[in-house]
Amino acid sequence: MTDVVATNQTILVVGGGISGMTTALEAAECGKDVILIEKNPSLGGRVSQLYKYFPKMCYPTCGMEINLRRIKANKKVRVMTMTEVTNVAGDTGNYTVNLKVSPRYVNENCTSCGACGEAVDSEFDDEYNYGLKKRKGAYLPFFMAYPQRYVVDSRIKGTADADKAKAACQYDAINLNMSEENLTLNVGAIVWATGWKPFDANKIQPYGYDRIPNVITSVEFERMMAPYGPTGGKILRPSDNKEAKDIAFIQCAGSRDRNYLKHCSRICCTASLKQTTYVREKYGDEGKSSIYYIDIRAIDRFEDLYHKAKADETVHFIKSKVANITQDKATGNPILHGVNTEGYHRYSNPHDLVVLAIGMEPSVDFNKLGVKMTVNEHGFIENDPSSGMFGAGVATDALDVNRAVQSATASALRAIQVVNKVAATEGG
Ligand SMILES: Cc1cc2nc3c(=O)[nH]c(=O)nc-3n(C[C@H](O)[C@H](O)[C@H](O)COP(=O)(O)OP(=O)(O)OC[C@H]3O[C@@H](n4cnc5c(N)ncnc54)[C@H](O)[C@@H]3O)c2cc1C
Repeated sequence: MTDVVATNQTILVVGGGISGMTTALEAAECGKDVILIEKNPSLGGRVSQLYKYFPKMCYPTCGMEINLRRIKANKKVRVMTMTEVTNVAGDTGNYTVNLKVSPRYVNENCTSCGACGEAVDSEFDDEYNYGLKKRKGAYLPFFMAYPQRYVVDSRIKGTADADKAKAACQYDAINLNMSEENLTLNVGAIVWATGWKPFDANKIQPYGYDRIPNVITSVEFERMMAPYGPTGGKILRPSDNKEAKDIAFIQCAGSRDRNYLKHCSRICCTASLKQTTYVREKYGDEGKSSIYYIDIRAIDRFEDLYHKAKADETVHFIKSKVANITQDKATGNPILHGVNTEGYHRYSNPHDLVVLAIGMEPSVDFNKLGVKMTVNEHGFIENDPSSGMFGAGVATDALDVNRAVQSATASALRAIQVVNKVAATEGG
């Protein structure tokens, strides 16, 4: 890692999701030197955790494959995973950045044969699957992970399991002597493509996410649908592993609410509409989706999904902000209570499974990180054209993939302009 070379002509991109990969590629394909850092052991971000993504309903593997091919082919991009920024000093065109690189304990000899994973006994919550399943103490983050290299969980270091993993490796790929590295780089511009985290559903007490097993979140539902996900693509109720066919989707779960998340994440309605197509795909006419909503926000061409759902007899729309959820102890069914504002009648509706459409929050708190960035009241970056640090993708606003990519391309251009100006000044 110590061979990382950077100058004031280098662009640092923080975050290896779709936005960070786009910014890095656009800048590198214009001939700029780029360092792309990602805190997780793999690139891909949250799009890689979706089952399919609208508007075309592609599998994320498809877009990821194209971007990875471009990254592998471009020597101008240096990818560093398990890496985070700890400090930024300096100014436009001349930043000094401190990075912390956490040890993977696995080197480039790894062929991802899986022998180390099979050898260890310890298991931990699988972050990639939002804790819906366990993974081994030596693991590949997901099947398309890049780099395609295992990770030894630091929690098994010093245990018999770590020795078992090392002994099982035929390629001398496990190095338990790796340790945290700290680097200082000089770069000209920085693009923060640090994305989002799901709003913590535990905070929405009336919806019982913390106590009713069959209340899950929209991001968990995406993993459930994934063929390589925790349920092998089946919609199973966490309480009893029975197939759920009657599913309620609650819009604005915590969003547009001064008690939780004030902003509208824009994506949640379309994401739930998309998820009703998953239910149809799975069960045909046998499934039932009920959308509880305040108003449906499906912008421009995403409105097609709304019309499609409205035309589907298995999809029902209930105009209501759900007041609270209780559980039928005998069946494990969550029961939704509220008032249908079309007709003003009270309901107590049981369903097999409830999916909370939770909002997107910025994943980085710049105040806590001690980095001077202008953010709005919701914590999203407000780009300042006079600066050398920019936001890209959902770090700047709650965006869909298409808009995130547009924002990432714009930020690549801004960063290129910064380093070009430095070169022109130094040359002149
Ligand atoms: C339930 C749900 C379903 C959705 N479905 C769709 C859909 O079908 N179609 C669609 O267009 N959009 C969809 N979206 C929105 C989509 O997920 C976002 O548009 C997309 O994730 C934006 O990508 P990003 O790269 O900006 O952020 P992210 O995907 O969050 O990527 C950010 C990356 O930065 C990394 N990172 C964070 N902090 C740091 C740090 N300090 N240092 C280094 N790395 C860091 C993260 O680990 C991550 O890899 C959905 C959203 C939700 C909630």
